[in-house]
Amino acid sequence: MKFLTTLFLLVSITLTLEAKLNLIKKENPDSNTTLLVIGGIHGNEPGGYYAPAILATHYKILSKNLWIIPNLNEASILKFRRGIHGDMNRKFAYIKNNDKDKAIVSEIKKIILLPRISLILNLHDGHGFYRQKSEGRIYNPKAWGQSCVIDQCKILKKTPYFNLEKIAQEVKHDINKKLLKKHHSFNVKNTHTKKDHYKDMQESLTYFAIKHYKPAFAIETSKSLPSVSLKVFYQLVAIESYMKIMGIKYTRDFKLNKNSINKIIKDYGTLEINHNILLNLNDIKKSLSYIPIKLEYNSFKFSNPLGSVKKVRGSYFIYIANHLVLKLKPQYFVMADDCQEKYAFDIDGKKVLVPKASEIFVSDDFKISKTNKSRVNVIGYYKQGVKNESEIKISYKNLNKKYAVDKRSKIFRVEFYKNNEFCSMVMVHFK
Ligand SMILES: [Zn+2]
Repeated sequence: MKFLTTLFLLVSITLTLEAKLNLIKKENPDSNTTLLVIGGIHGNEPGGYYAPAILATHYKILSKNLWIIPNLNEASILKFRRGIHGDMNRKFAYIKNNDKDKAIVSEIKKIILLPRISLILNLHDGHGFYRQKSEGRIYNPKAWGQSCVIDQCKILKKTPYFNLEKIAQEVKHDINKKLLKKHHSFNVKNTHTKKDHYKDMQESLTYFAIKHYKPAFAIETSKSLPSVSLKVFYQLVAIESYMKIMGIKYTRDFKLNKNSINKIIKDYGTLEINHNILLNLNDIKKSLSYIPIKLEYNSFKFSNPLGSVKKVRGSYFIYIANHLVLKLKPQYFVMADDCQEKYAFDIDGKKVLVPKASEIFVSDDFKISKTNKSRVNVIGYYKQGVKNESEIKISYKNLNKKYAVDKRSKIFRVEFYKNNEFCSMVMVHFK
């Protein structure tokens, strides 16, 4: 028994030391060439995490491989701070055992060193506009913005992509053909990291990679650019250029311009809870109550890679990047076994089978057919003496708008229960 307890303790300790990174793989079986894009090492550099999030959700990779970690330093992104436990990008040469970033740094190092990783990009927003000669206060050699950063000219081992200087120059020329304004021009910044007086640069992620003969570059868009979408635009232009150099073929489902990027950034997407609730996070009310979830081990699946959940004093705070989108107040339930996967509805007089955790669109009215064993609860509907609200035709005027889930009061919850256990929810969206 004692042995078992020790074993259990060991397992839980290892679990806490292992960070679960949000690694998204887009792969093709024909090739081992892999580009690794790392975003969000600094939590207050949104160009550096929105760009990889869009890469993850709006690009299709047709040849070779793309691995994406959009939000390496998620806890700092949530607070919009460079690093809540200090600068994560200065922890790659040495890190204390009790450092709160230790698990993440160890994990990302392991990924960088995988044989299949061919080239690494670390994304940032930096100050000003980097120029080789000073052209004033924000355009000068000390600035970082709008630069392709390399630690040295070449990697000292002839691997593919060993010539960092040549690749960065090529990317720079490519970006400079697509500038929206002339002063957004990119330059190559060689930090000559190896030199003695660059001790802090030697602790960075890219230098760790270089020392292990892994080609690595930083992309720095400027903090001085007036909008996040503009930063993301240049990040994506740069990443596409690296993909071109590596022969990674891709398609994207939007036009690469500021407006479409802006629209994508504002789309919070959906949140699926325990595979039985689906919430559209756009236009949702700030707070929802009596959400039927489990006391522990709930699964939260976001369509947006920058989604995260924080539990504070019994409520669940739902974030997209640093934006608090929703506060969920739970009502704890046991999840029922053997629930139906689909429910029979009458939508505007038409019979439809509706999958659990989905949304239906209604013009006039809906009716849920009598189910075998489950009880139906339409939140916002009330009829005295009625406990199971199936077989009742319900229209918009029958619903108390206070119970809608969205700000426009158009979307309502239909919940299915079996005995006193929860099965699933369907959203009814009035057109
Ligand atoms: Zn940075």
